[in-house]
Amino acid sequence: MNKLCLRSLLVSVCTLSSLCLAQNQPLPDLLLLHARVVTMNPAMPSAQAIAIAGDRIIWAGTDAEAQKRFPSVKNRIDLRGATVMPGIIDAHTHLFELGKSLLRLNLKDVATEQEAVARVRERAAAARPGEWILGWGWDEGKWAAHYPDNEALSRASPENPVFLVGLHGFAGWANKKALAIAGITTATKDPENGKIVHDEKTHEPTGILLNRAQGFVESHIPAMSMEQTEKAIELAAEQCIRNGLTSVHEARVSPIMVQAYRNLLGKGRLPLRVYVMLDGADKALVDEWLARGPEIDPHHRLTVRAIKLFADGALGSRGAVLLAGYSDAPGSQGVITTSQSQIYDLTRRSLEKGFQVCTHAIGDAANRMTLDAYQKALGEIRAARDPRLRIEHAQVLAPEDISRFAQLGVIASMQPTHATSDMAWAEKRIGPERIQGAYAWRSVLKTGVHLPLSSDFPGETLNPFYGIYAAITRQDVQGNPRGGWYPEQRLTLEEALRGYTREAAYAEFEEKEKGSLEPGKLADLIVIDKDITQLGSKPQEILSIRVLKTFIGGKLVYDSAATQK
Ligand SMILES: [Zn+2]
Repeated sequence: MNKLCLRSLLVSVCTLSSLCLAQNQPLPDLLLLHARVVTMNPAMPSAQAIAIAGDRIIWAGTDAEAQKRFPSVKNRIDLRGATVMPGIIDAHTHLFELGKSLLRLNLKDVATEQEAVARVRERAAAARPGEWILGWGWDEGKWAAHYPDNEALSRASPENPVFLVGLHGFAGWANKKALAIAGITTATKDPENGKIVHDEKTHEPTGILLNRAQGFVESHIPAMSMEQTEKAIELAAEQCIRNGLTSVHEARVSPIMVQAYRNLLGKGRLPLRVYVMLDGADKALVDEWLARGPEIDPHHRLTVRAIKLFADGALGSRGAVLLAGYSDAPGSQGVITTSQSQIYDLTRRSLEKGFQVCTHAIGDAANRMTLDAYQKALGEIRAARDPRLRIEHAQVLAPEDISRFAQLGVIASMQPTHATSDMAWAEKRIGPERIQGAYAWRSVLKTGVHLPLSSDFPGETLNPFYGIYAAITRQDVQGNPRGGWYPEQRLTLEEALRGYTREAAYAEFEEKEKGSLEPGKLADLIVIDKDITQLGSKPQEILSIRVLKTFIGGKLVYDSAATQK
């Protein structure tokens, strides 16, 4: 009897008797029942029940079968018809940046100076001597007609320096202590492209610093300590699991961040899985890791295996590198941040040592340059059997470059909400022809490429349902424009979900471990309050999907019922 026959015989015997299962498999630690399970497993797209042992899924099937197979399992959760899907894998994020913004005092909804000062007073009362109090979000546009001064702010925090950045980053508001540390006096001259606001009568600096003048204070704010870095990451991770994210790819990681991740993991305070892209601009960091080799976590918690490069800047600020001039500024073509030869060189070295390279490329010239560099390196490093090189964003592509991703096996790592955030002005930048190859998910996917999707938070929301909605509608949250922006580039729901699960898992070499709910895979799953597969006719409802529970490795790490109590 060959192996296959033996297996099918075993399977048929096993369906008759749960005894057989007990011999081959451990008994489940947990049974999830009465759910609508979207498995993302093409062999069995839906199920009602899931059995978990340790950190793995060991079985999926119907409720009736589950009752028959596992009658003695005590630990069972009746999900009462809720939908279960694989945990979201966000393939491009900035977890630490999100954490930093969470650590600062949030003044986004603050309407008056008094309110802002009251919040600072509260912080100051709990602060250590000399500790900086940092905030952001007061609306410098709305307040511009009557900027506050530092009187009340300095009274609220006489000993701790305070610096509060405006919502749009154009103005900062400092107290006396911060002005003193920065050495700003009546005699300080304005910097280029900046202004120190002075009191009309006394000529004393008021504490308001416009544009580049903010740098006078910012340069004195100490770098974050390890404790603060860990706290920031922990806060951000908390937000992630509340939003249904179970894995993130962290796009640009510094040495202190690597250490903070390790520390948090050691202390059991890193609930979600992190895939690290090291900061490729940090030469010492790159050299150190290339000498050491990748660190692939057998527990799939924290893997360091990728290097992040930047080929260019952003389209909005005209930093993206284009093959021809900007349509609304014909004299400019953007700025290259890493040259083609540098990308080639780093790619070659990375492939030799088993690292993946992820290069940020927005403009059509930046994408071509990166593809050229990758092609050359791939041609030379024969040993790189499974390189999975990535281009992050792949935002504007020349028509002739679109098929090169699939030909070279390069992953196109794209962000649905970038299209819906940029659609109001993107065509002004590049004109009606080049826009055809911009945010062109469908054109890219058609060539057979791997297309992981992501949010790029905190620049965009980390709520993955906003990304899924943007992917399938190409509309803003109000449903504009009607019919979608270049709707021929929309994705189907199935393709969008695949982008946030299986494809994102592939992009980090983990497609055998996660990305779908099937026996053998990690039990990373979320319970949501609506059946996402039934919202085709009213996609806006996707925006209000709530995550009820998040499981990572079979462990309940977030429960909305628990937080409501
Ligand atoms: Zn990014």
